[in-house]
Amino acid sequence: MVSKQGMLVVVSGPAGVGKGTLCRALFTQLDGLEYSVSVTTRKARPSETEGKEYYFRTRQEFLKMIENNDFLEWAEFCGNLYGTPRFHVEGVLKRDKTILLEIDIQGAIQVKKQFPQGVFIFIVPPSLKALSKRLHGRGTETEEIIQRRLATAVQELGNIYDYDYVVENDHINVAVEKLKSIIIAEDCRVKRMHFSLKEE
Ligand code: 5GP
Repeated sequence: MVSKQGMLVVVSGPAGVGKGTLCRALFTQLDGLEYSVSVTTRKARPSETEGKEYYFRTRQEFLKMIENNDFLEWAEFCGNLYGTPRFHVEGVLKRDKTILLEIDIQGAIQVKKQFPQGVFIFIVPPSLKALSKRLHGRGTETEEIIQRRLATAVQELGNIYDYDYVVENDHINVAVEKLKSIIIAEDCRVKRMHFSLKEE
């Protein structure tokens, strides 16, 4: 009786807030979600694989992709370029499925202009101290980069009112439950449904 339109979910918030961990957990608990793998000019971390966390490209290759209009959005974050390939997102939405983008705040603002009907979720740390601890604990960035990321995070909190939901990442299980609840509830919205009354 009911078929649904595709849904675009954006999970955003300061770098180091734990978006990646939350999204990975979410994918193990919710069926039918597709992940948008971004392109970046950042160097791969030892744990990362081409095509899984990111597509790793040179700056020159990335600039070429911008020229070809390959990105739905892109942004420069702490000296590296990050972008969402347009092709995958549009394909998933055409198939009426749900796509999740885990991107920074500048990117989320650009996506909102193109998809105001999307679901925009802002992840906040319990405190700046906790964020600093997490960035240091990761051990993958220099102190200078960590300080830049922290300063950016403070500025970024000002964008919170552009979002639909805020989830505090204090306890991961609680935060994942909240993300799940948001996506499930949004998936049931009447405005996303096409109704047709069939005999059976
Ligand atoms: P990291 O270098 O820690 O993987 O990511 C740095 C920041 O870039 C994070 O806030 C992450 O969410 C964001 N990011 C990842 N992919 C994209 C993307 O495609 N577009 C934008 N705008 N930001 C992204």
